[in-house]
Amino acid sequence: MNARTYRDSEEVDFAVVGSGAAGGVMARELSQAGFSVVLLERGPRFTPAMFEHDELKYFFLDALTNSGKTSPQSFRSDPASEAKPFTEGLMPAFYAQVVGGSTTHFTANFWRFHENDFNERSLLGPIEGTGFADWPISYAELEPYYTKVDWEIGVSGLAGACPNDPPRSRPYPMPPLPVKSSGVLLERGARKLGLHPFPAPMAIASIPYRGRSGCIHCGFCMGYGCESMAKSSTLYTMIPEAEATGRCEVRDSSYVFRVPTNAAGRVTGVHYFDAQRREHFQRARAVVLSANGAETPRLLLASDSARFPQGLANSSGLVGRHLMFNTYAPVHAEFEHPLNEYKSVQVTRIVHDFYDTDPKRGWYGGGGIDARIGPAPAVWAIDMPLGQARWGHEYKRHLKAFNRSLVAVAHGTSLPQESNSVSLDPRLRDAWGQPCIRITYRDHADDVANARFLAARTEEILQAAGALRTARFAETENMYSPHLLGTCRMGNDPATSVVDRYHRSHDVPNLFICDGSSLVSSGRGQPTMTIQALAFRAAAHVGRFAHANAI
Ligand SMILES: Cc1cc2nc3c(=O)[nH]c(=O)nc-3n(C[C@H](O)[C@H](O)[C@H](O)COP(=O)(O)OP(=O)(O)OC[C@H]3O[C@@H](n4cnc5c(N)ncnc54)[C@H](O)[C@@H]3O)c2cc1C
Repeated sequence: MNARTYRDSEEVDFAVVGSGAAGGVMARELSQAGFSVVLLERGPRFTPAMFEHDELKYFFLDALTNSGKTSPQSFRSDPASEAKPFTEGLMPAFYAQVVGGSTTHFTANFWRFHENDFNERSLLGPIEGTGFADWPISYAELEPYYTKVDWEIGVSGLAGACPNDPPRSRPYPMPPLPVKSSGVLLERGARKLGLHPFPAPMAIASIPYRGRSGCIHCGFCMGYGCESMAKSSTLYTMIPEAEATGRCEVRDSSYVFRVPTNAAGRVTGVHYFDAQRREHFQRARAVVLSANGAETPRLLLASDSARFPQGLANSSGLVGRHLMFNTYAPVHAEFEHPLNEYKSVQVTRIVHDFYDTDPKRGWYGGGGIDARIGPAPAVWAIDMPLGQARWGHEYKRHLKAFNRSLVAVAHGTSLPQESNSVSLDPRLRDAWGQPCIRITYRDHADDVANARFLAARTEEILQAAGALRTARFAETENMYSPHLLGTCRMGNDPATSVVDRYHRSHDVPNLFICDGSSLVSSGRGQPTMTIQALAFRAAAHVGRFAHANAI
């Protein structure tokens, strides 16, 4: 590795905050374009050998995720009520706080958005009580960058297998992963109902790819780091390639807490704490925020000043607003024979027949369905579907059914509502004395109706596949997931958006924001492919501006 280091006092071209899905891409693209880059990441850096198959550590003890012990959050479903603090367990906004961000431990379902995801407002009209809007860019503009994600990050899949897939300029670079029992059964049930299941596109190498191993099917995928390096995390793809340029320093365990501005209203760099909680200031010509849909708005709101009293880049008042999560409705199904689902990747087949909004249904929304094992054994033991007893005969039966069961999940749309937000909790402070995240969230009635509809279709597929029993969870109005979206939305109008079509903040010319917060609509689940395509596109334009001295 040819990584270099910079002194804080040295002005680098770009300070990139956050090394996850978007930040890793931004750092690689900008350093490959010839710029000096410091990539600041709050969490530590793991080597492949450091990842463990330890369910308790990873699901209950925050080994990879943000921790409520040092960084509590609060939650309320209604802007008028007091938020309840969370200091342990999974936080309302949770993500992997390590180099590589949530791409380190995610499931790696990698769906492109469809053409209509970008202009649904024009197609369907306004939806009362929401900020439902078109994107300032089209699918066609993003397509070359989706293809870059396929080939440079590494996606396995089968082009043309899905009848309603959007157009693509190249096939996938790798064949799909081998089908599992859950995939065979989803496919069987869906075909019986006249639907069109197809191999799931996954950001996991199915064969050796660009110096990385193909998947070894260990079964520790969702929620775990990948010790074989087959998961196409930025930890293994973009970040080493950024360092190899000799122009990018990855500074891990570096918590950025403020982005200051000068008298001209331009950002000058970032204030951060190192692992020993010492304060530093890294000078930079421009700053890129890629800290995710919860932490980016928190940082902007915490960077208020006399000139920017509502927080940085927030003249619209929309920083932190329009939070979207994607609804997530699981259905358990028990079959007669062992499925051995605990092996290999989570998902191998999906169904996109219900992707589009159908106005005849009477609500906005659509989604996709996959089948998987879902929880590992300890989570299976406590994660009970609706109406199932947690004791006695019925509970024992649930435990015994583990190896004969699968979980199919309906992933759906979330509407952008201004009242759903990330804001600063007025009371909570973290272990560094910084203000904490307060989440205000309630699903729109259309989101709930859509999740119920998709869960019912999912149950029908499983029954058609021969399930002995199926069981659903409650589709409530608080179906939050780890998809943190929409809180600094893109748009052409500075009054209704935070960044422009090139991810430049409307208010601060040398501040760029690119991550889950940039999304205008939620898509149908699996937003990360789009987040990374946006990052490739943003980096191309930001690099162009920087070469022309226009930042
Ligand atoms: C268990 C799980 C499974 C998932 N499965 C899927 C899936 O199958 N498909 C899919 O599309 N998506 C999935 N996701 C969501 C996906 O991981 C995220 O959408 C994606 O990683 C978001 O990218 P990002 O660049 O916005 O932020 P992140 O990847 O979260 O990266 C942000 C980085 O910024 C760092 N950071 C935050 N604040 C600061 C600060 N102040 N200073 C320095 N660094 C900071 C964080 O530590 C983090 O590393 C999953 C998420 C989880 C948690």
